[in-house]
Amino acid sequence: MRIADIYKEKKNVLSFEIFPPKKDDELKNIDATLEILCELNPDYISVTFGAGGSSNNNKTIDLAKKIKHEYHVEPVVHLTCLCYDKQEIDEFAKVLQAEGIENVLALRGDRNPNLPEKPDFRYASNLVKHLNTNYDFCIAGACYPECHPESESRVSEIRNLKKKVDAGAEVLLSQLFFDNDYFYRFVDDCRIGGIDVPITPGIMPVINGAQIMRMVNLCGASLPPKFEKIIKRYGDNKQALYDAGMSYALSQIIDLLANDVDGIHLYTMNNPAVARKICDGIRNII
Ligand code: FAD
Repeated sequence: MRIADIYKEKKNVLSFEIFPPKKDDELKNIDATLEILCELNPDYISVTFGAGGSSNNNKTIDLAKKIKHEYHVEPVVHLTCLCYDKQEIDEFAKVLQAEGIENVLALRGDRNPNLPEKPDFRYASNLVKHLNTNYDFCIAGACYPECHPESESRVSEIRNLKKKVDAGAEVLLSQLFFDNDYFYRFVDDCRIGGIDVPITPGIMPVINGAQIMRMVNLCGASLPPKFEKIIKRYGDNKQALYDAGMSYALSQIIDLLANDVDGIHLYTMNNPAVARKICDGIRNII
């Protein structure tokens, strides 16, 4: 099913993000994770993509196939374009099409000095347009409530996002954030800027101190003072940080749902216990 149709049919769409395990033997063990995640009844599961691979033996595609054909949950395949030319992107697209994958999160990808960039796709909107013109996928795009780290200004960020939607992105999935007010202001700005597709907030429950600093450095999400206090107070106590991080994520999600957002996209970090705890906490809300 095309995820844009899921958003049309129901409120509070619940989705998970997972990543393909790096080692081949871990891919075999992913079943234990998928069994629990799929029991939680997500509307779809998105699978991240590491640039630099090819369409042969691609772990993202293998995992998406597993989710679709063995677990009967809708997968969304992330696909980055900065390091690929048209022919390589077409190879990916044809494999996805042949496997019956209907949904693609079209991304530019992060710049990586170890991976040469190719000139065919400069921005995600170029990939969205190419896929939309030549294939029949439902295309999602990424968005950034606190602006993309390379963004020139808030206004140019919204204008560029509008180009991505005009090129054919039917759903937007957000970068993680820890202060819901950023997300609400961002959605208001998008609506003023003429972006009218569903915008799903991405939430990552933080359960260890090293993870949070890595994430913040990588994506530029700011830490609100009340969250900083939690890290400062409980950062050295694994169990306490687990409890506090889960409660913080749950309170963010409950506030978002109370504010009628289009859905919740949970960055599970392949941790089914975390996903289960979050789902238990919103069982009567979502
Ligand atoms: P774009 O939409 O192209 O935007 C990148 C920058 O270029 C922005 O500052 C934008 O304002 C600017 N821009 C866009 N269009 C124009 C234009 N026409 N003219 C001038 N400037 C423009 N990375 C991975 O490698 N694998 C993944 O699986 C992955 N999954 C992700 C999932 C989500 C939900 C999110 C939010 C991010 C994910 N990323 C992933 C990270 C993403 O690849 C990076 O954030 C990347 O730097 C930008 O990708 P984009 O698709 O948002 O790029």
